[in-house]
Amino acid sequence: MRQHDVIVIGGGLAGMRAAQQAQAMGADVAMISKIFPTRSHSAAAQGGINAAVGVGDSWEDHAYDTVKGSDYLGDQDAIEVLCEEGPADIIALERMGVIFNRNGEGQIDMRAFGGATNVRTCYVADQTGQVILHVMWEQLLKSGLTVYSERFVTELLQEDGRISGCVALEIPTGRIEIFQTRAIVLATGGIGQVYYPTTNGLAVTGDGLALAYRAGASLMDMEMIQHHPTTLKANGVLITEGARGEGAYLLNSVGERFMENYAPNMKELASRDVVSRAETMEVRAGRAVDGDCVLLDLRHLGRDLVMTKLTQIFELARDYAGTNVLEEPLPIRPGHHYIMGGIKTDVDGRTWDPSGQGRWKGAEGLFAAGETANVSVHGGNRLGGNSLLDTVVFGRRSGAGAVEYARSVGWASVNENAAINGLESRIKDIFSRPSDGLRAATLRRQMGTAMNDGIAVFRNEEGMQKTLATIRAIKERLPEVSVHNKGRLFNTDLLSVLELDYMLDVAESVGMGAVTRKESRGAHAREDFPDRNDEDWLKHIVVARSEDGQAEVGFLPVTMTKWEPIARTY
Ligand SMILES: Cc1cc2nc3c(=O)[nH]c(=O)nc-3n(C[C@H](O)[C@H](O)[C@H](O)COP(=O)(O)OP(=O)(O)OC[C@H]3O[C@@H](n4cnc5c(N)ncnc54)[C@H](O)[C@@H]3O)c2cc1C
Repeated sequence: MRQHDVIVIGGGLAGMRAAQQAQAMGADVAMISKIFPTRSHSAAAQGGINAAVGVGDSWEDHAYDTVKGSDYLGDQDAIEVLCEEGPADIIALERMGVIFNRNGEGQIDMRAFGGATNVRTCYVADQTGQVILHVMWEQLLKSGLTVYSERFVTELLQEDGRISGCVALEIPTGRIEIFQTRAIVLATGGIGQVYYPTTNGLAVTGDGLALAYRAGASLMDMEMIQHHPTTLKANGVLITEGARGEGAYLLNSVGERFMENYAPNMKELASRDVVSRAETMEVRAGRAVDGDCVLLDLRHLGRDLVMTKLTQIFELARDYAGTNVLEEPLPIRPGHHYIMGGIKTDVDGRTWDPSGQGRWKGAEGLFAAGETANVSVHGGNRLGGNSLLDTVVFGRRSGAGAVEYARSVGWASVNENAAINGLESRIKDIFSRPSDGLRAATLRRQMGTAMNDGIAVFRNEEGMQKTLATIRAIKERLPEVSVHNKGRLFNTDLLSVLELDYMLDVAESVGMGAVTRKESRGAHAREDFPDRNDEDWLKHIVVARSEDGQAEVGFLPVTMTKWEPIARTY
């Protein structure tokens, strides 16, 4: 059995930042990742990272924009931490070696992003995540961090009411490994593959949310799913908001810059929920191209700008849409992109209520950070560029929190044999099914399509209930799913069955949150309840496991500091 004071599960930006902080505090820390860390979805982030580092900007303005962007569902104390501490983290990244684009004066350059009253998105061309992730990785290699790569964590272990370790499948060999620890930071990323299509990478399957949920943690604001306004029809690939930030227009089929009608001040740079809804309304009004798309026009930006700041966009449009964005507008449509909700944590990443009052269900010793977590800085709608900042600020804070916690407790025991046998019998059960049975990919596609049909840009009771029923029906069929490959080495067939199991828990909790919220707020736009209703619904919805193992809905108040809810216009 392997032993470390702190274990970080996830090798994306949140995990790397947590591991780096824990390591810097002198703890014995290890990072586990199911894919090689630099392949994590963080590497796909294009547009940039927000922080009030510019002249004339202030963290209070950033905080207000974030609160407004969240449609007042974000916890304002957490948003203050994000925005106040953000600038120092940008400087820290810069000193580690992140080559942020510069302006003529040699300062960090910034681009405009949606929902922001000031220009505050720091960027490295349109490859920001890739660059930050690689710089962080270099730092971790230099520090000698212990990394267990290509290990799929399948279960969190608990003893005496707190986290004691985890179970992992070593993917290349199929061996089962048990880890003992005093504290775990879950940084397993988002849920993208629960939807089809999505902008998210294939490995983004929400495992961490299901692991935490099964260990007793609360999932909060799960209905808050972001559809990004500009994705490619062919495969869901993202076209960064940075394109609009650099000045690209959205046009309908009659060549009208329609955002002027929906958000007269900020137009294309209104927040994402607003722009995605506007596009959908244009399509419904019969002003679509290619069936369900509108056009993103970059032509007036000119070759120099596109070929220096939006090179990846030029290539993605050419390769996947056959469009030369220098010469013709690009068809795009809203697509699944991000989950604002996640594992409920406090600002130090704790998933349990440290006050001891049991205000929400959690798992003591379990921390969470990044897209997996819901510190509650994004609320009903995340602003572009705030997620990378979330991973860096709260990755750091949860790494620190985990070390402090680990130092305050002893080792809880782990029954190694029982843990190995648990996973071993799960695998044996899957292998015992006939090879020509139901395929995980079939159910996965049904789930993803149902989610995009019923819980997307616009929702209504009937559609959401239908999706939820489909998810529950698919769950029933999980025991029929079989694999062709019954070997142990690099068995991705087996992994896809395990992933589907976790994804269905996540999908169900999204559906339960969605049918519960009877109003429209942020990304949760209901045709049958078109208005925001602060009196009844200015609160978080949580989904947690009840004593008898069923998913149960509860509520938590939203923390307000200084910004009272007002009507949200852009
Ligand atoms: C295409 C795209 C572009 C984006 N652009 C931007 C942007 O410009 N600005 C911005 O702010 N945000 C952007 N976002 C959002 C942002 O990139 C993500 O929210 C953020 O990077 C998530 O980081 P993370 O560390 O939480 O997760 P990830 O980077 O997804 O890492 C998750 C890690 O968890 C590991 N893992 C998962 N499950 C297991 C398991 N069972 N066992 C072991 N390990 C596991 C994986 O191996 C991986 O290392 C973008 C997202 C996408 C998809």
